[in-house]
Amino acid sequence: MLSAITVRNLNVSYHGNDAIQNVSFSVSPGKLVGIIGPNGAGKSTLLKALLELIPRDTGEIQMNGKGISEIRKHVAYVPQRSNIDWDFPITVIDTVLLGTYPNLGIFQRPKKKEKALAYDCLQKVGMGDYANRQIGELSGGQQQRVFMARALAQQADIFFLDEPFVGIDVSSEKAIVNILKELRDGGKTVLVVHHDLNKANDYFDELILLNKELIGVGEVEKVFRSEILAKAYNTQFPFLKEMEVQM
Ligand code: ADP
Ligand code: MG
Repeated sequence: MLSAITVRNLNVSYHGNDAIQNVSFSVSPGKLVGIIGPNGAGKSTLLKALLELIPRDTGEIQMNGKGISEIRKHVAYVPQRSNIDWDFPITVIDTVLLGTYPNLGIFQRPKKKEKALAYDCLQKVGMGDYANRQIGELSGGQQQRVFMARALAQQADIFFLDEPFVGIDVSSEKAIVNILKELRDGGKTVLVVHHDLNKANDYFDELILLNKELIGVGEVEKVFRSEILAKAYNTQFPFLKEMEVQM
């Protein structure tokens, strides 16, 4: 089967300092994958490099067998919340409508069809009643749901989310996890950066464990082992011994 994502020998640096070193992996379609590692491990850098939002020093990247420039409109990206300007004056519905733009032609304005889709996506994340609010007026969890709706409106095949659960309430987290699982069940490929190990086990099918280099990749049960995690986090995980026995 064709991989959804294939990465070979990826190296990324900032001003001569390595952030990603020699990373290679592939992801099959229809998987919900966690990208896990400590702060500064290069997780956000990996996502941005995959999307070609930042340059790479070396490496080959393919999605559905194609270069990102060919497939960009089929790839949705939800950036880290801290990197979004929440003071930007835009309504909730217009934020979601932006998701439909990659599928519109040049100079085409969103019409009824796109607006209906945007509303559907807002309903799906439980934010239908907030369509005309300013994005800056919402709580963290509500903002993250709106960005999830924007990604849904793009009707992409591959989804990248950077730390979607940071600074949000429990019910928003649950709502987003359920949507990610639904996307996966519908055959979409979903990569989620997640900085702690909490819930990794419940949320993801596979893990990419990163600490500049690739420490581990594969099914959660294979990667979620104390000696592999210790390598990523430079610390011991005695509590995991028990969990491994249960798994
Ligand atoms: P993570 O998302 O895992 O916390 P990042 O990808 O944000 O890690 O960062 C990886 C490393 O690259 C860190 O050492 C960080 O300081 C550095 N870095 C990230 N972005 C930049 C940038 N724009 N300029 C210079 N260094 C950066
Ligand atoms: Mg990050």
